[in-house]
Amino acid sequence: MALTHVVLLGPPGAGKGTQAKQIIDKLGLVHLSTGDILRDEVSRQTELGKTAKGFMDRGDLVPDQLIIDMIRGRIEAATAGFLLDGFPRTAAQAEALSEFATIDVVLNIGLAREEVVRRLTGRRVCRGCGEIYNLTFNLAEGETTCADCGGELYQRDDDKAEVIENRYDVYEKSTAPLIDFYKKLGVLRTLDGSAGSECVFSEIIGILTA
Ligand code: AMP
Repeated sequence: MALTHVVLLGPPGAGKGTQAKQIIDKLGLVHLSTGDILRDEVSRQTELGKTAKGFMDRGDLVPDQLIIDMIRGRIEAATAGFLLDGFPRTAAQAEALSEFATIDVVLNIGLAREEVVRRLTGRRVCRGCGEIYNLTFNLAEGETTCADCGGELYQRDDDKAEVIENRYDVYEKSTAPLIDFYKKLGVLRTLDGSAGSECVFSEIIGILTA
């Protein structure tokens, strides 16, 4: 397989996490989600977790240097390839990344604000295995257990209505400019996140295994 240094870009709720799980199952890359790593730090109440929590609860970005220090070693250790999910999210993070890794392809999953709001409001996550469900696609109203592992389904604090709009604003201001950054480097591929997840997945596999 040629493309093993992969970045997933796109607004919150575009389907990055869902796609990432399927991609790593099929291609065996290491999944590095800065959001998942941070949520783990928060739940273990580490120093980093305590610092990050306030930013995350408001839907703001955690300061660049903390994120770069957190992810750098993990990327360098992933010698068989990595799938970055939620990193980089700012120009400073993208610049730092370019100093310690080459990127083969950036998969930019686009989704309009109204659809982001609809999806994030309906998102539920399994506490046990991390599986992602959505009330608009694959979860009945009132269902509280994971079909895969029986774990409890919960709504992320930052998926509550009052935080979602800010997360999209932050995406537009800080992260969307990376689309141009990677386009200029010739590694950007754009996908329509409003297509079904299976459709997006087969397009991604086509790109990564071409
Ligand atoms: P996510 O699960 O990717 O939606 O991330 C959840 C939250 O974690 C974000 O809203 C930010 O507060 C924080 N976060 C995740 N990745 C980054 C990043 N690369 N830079 C700054 N903050 C991040």
